[in-house]
Amino acid sequence: MSAATTPTGDTVQVVAIDGPAGTGKSTVSASLAERIGAHMLDTGAMYRAATLAVLRAGVDPASDDVRDVVDAADIRLAVGDGDTQVFLNGEDVSDEIRTNDVTAAVSAVSAHAYVRTKLVELQRRHADDQFLVVEGRDIGTVVFPNAALKVFLTATPEARAERRHRQNVAAGRESILAEVLEAVNLRDHLDSTRAVSPLRAADDAVVVDTSEMTLEQVIDRLTELVTERIGVRP
Ligand code: C5P
Repeated sequence: MSAATTPTGDTVQVVAIDGPAGTGKSTVSASLAERIGAHMLDTGAMYRAATLAVLRAGVDPASDDVRDVVDAADIRLAVGDGDTQVFLNGEDVSDEIRTNDVTAAVSAVSAHAYVRTKLVELQRRHADDQFLVVEGRDIGTVVFPNAALKVFLTATPEARAERRHRQNVAAGRESILAEVLEAVNLRDHLDSTRAVSPLRAADDAVVVDTSEMTLEQVIDRLTELVTERIGVRP
């Protein structure tokens, strides 16, 4: 799919969607992309694939040995209309990157500056000639500071933990709400206090608090923003 064109003829390439875990970011981004005729890039999936490589190598996610493992890892995303498919050294790891082990270790791996440098480069390459909805933590601040629209999704930790818990149960994963809340708080803390590219809203991002909104309402709001700010209509 090629980049969309606004009524004034400008080329639109990126809608950046950032925010912490459990705001509905992935589902919202996928639905928004479908509505506005864009593809979606799930950057968290890349950090998760890097983390899986580290865990498989038996390396401590906080140690400097992470560098060699991630350097050697061939991480690819098949960006398309549906769920993002993720490949690690040619193997489809789309399901394995969602396990609790990966989730528990991903913040430590993604805090390494060289991991971020490698993955940010890969992310920028995807946008070369595509109209993209890109979701992550640092998309509006670091990866695509010139994004046509930046959205920062937030919600209370309790609302986010509840959503994550429901997703886990629906997917048949073991889940205890209090533990999910603890993990959400810990991951927020690690992601927002890390030295490199901490999680924060870009100054020019539109902040949308989804605590009291249904998924459908969030998608409607974002679609409105795309139409208002970029002129692309569903
Ligand atoms: O979005 P998801 O929960 O899959 O992201 C997993 C983790 O990857 C985050 O908790 C964060 O540590 C890291 N991440 C990041 N920068 C991004 C996307 C994800 O550091 N752009």
